[in-house]
Amino acid sequence: MFGLAIHGGAGTLPRAEMGGERELKYRAGLAAALDAGYAVLEARGTSLDAVTRAVMALEDNPLFNAGLGSVFTLDGRNELDAAIMDGRTLNAGAVCGVTHIRNPIELARAVMEHSGYVMLSGEGAEEFALNRGFTLVPRSYFHTPERWRQLERIRSGDTGLSALTISHVGTVGAVALDGEGRLAAATSTGGMTGKRYNRIGDSPIIGAGTYADDRSCAVSATGHGEMFIRAAVAHDICSRMRFGGRALGEAVREVVLEELIKLKGEGGVVAIDAQGEIAMEFNSEGMFRASRRAGEEARIAIYRPE
Ligand code: ASP
Repeated sequence: MFGLAIHGGAGTLPRAEMGGERELKYRAGLAAALDAGYAVLEARGTSLDAVTRAVMALEDNPLFNAGLGSVFTLDGRNELDAAIMDGRTLNAGAVCGVTHIRNPIELARAVMEHSGYVMLSGEGAEEFALNRGFTLVPRSYFHTPERWRQLERIRSGDTGLSALTISHVGTVGAVALDGEGRLAAATSTGGMTGKRYNRIGDSPIIGAGTYADDRSCAVSATGHGEMFIRAAVAHDICSRMRFGGRALGEAVREVVLEELIKLKGEGGVVAIDAQGEIAMEFNSEGMFRASRRAGEEARIAIYRPE
C-alpha cells in the first residue's frame, strides 16, 4: 500500500465568491501537485521524495500561500517557513523567516540531511543555502499583485473577513506513505497576511504544524498558527494513536474538532497512517485538499461535504 494526501490551506474564500473559473484553477493546482507526488510513489520512490515534489509544485503555483504565492507581512515583506520530517528515523529539518528561497521545502530538506541541525532561520539559513548550491531569488520574486491587494485590505482595517480568509488560501503541505512503509510529512507557508515581521507560525515547528512517526502517522497542518503551536497539534495526533489506542480518524477529529475549537484555533490537517488510512479534517469553512491511494482514484475537495 502507498498513498499521499496534500492540502493547499484552510480558510478558503466563501463558497459564493469561489465557483467558476477560479475554483477550477485551484482544483487544477491541487491535481498537479497530487500527481507530482503520486508519480514518485508509483515509481517506488520514497515518501520523503513524494512530499517534497508535491509541496514544490504548490510552492511554484502563485495561487497558494507558499513559495511564489506567499502572503505579505504588515510591513510589506515576504518571510517563508517550511519543515519536513522522516517518520522512519524521526529526522527533521526546518527553515523559518527566509526571504530569498524559491522552494523553502528543498532547503528544509537540506537542513535535515546536511546541516546537523533541525532548524535554521533568516540569514543563517540563506547562507547555508548558498553553501549547498541553492540559487537565491530576489525579494521581488514573491511580489504578486493579488497578495499585495490582500495586504492593503488588512492595512485598511477590513475586519469583515478573518485573516485566514483574507489570505484566501493558506499554507501548503503533504503527507505520504511509501511502498516500504515509510511515512513523511512536509509543510511550507508564507504565514498569515499582515503578520508582524519575524513572526513564526506553526508550520516549521516540529510537532506543531508538521510531524511524522512510522509508529503512528504523518501530519501536516494549516490554520491559525499560534493556536496550533499551543496545542502541539501534529504531535498530539500521533500521541493519541500511539499511546491512546485511537484510530487515525478519531485522533484527528479529537484534536481538530475539540482541542483546537476550545482554543478558537481555525484550520485543519491532512494525515496518513502506516496502513495508508487518510484523514483530512478541518474546522474552517473549507480546506483545499486532495488524496490518492494505490489502486484508487484521486479525490479533490474544497468544501464539505464533497
Ligand atoms: N499555519 C500558518 C501560519 O500560522 C498559516 C496557514 O496555515 O494559513 O503561519
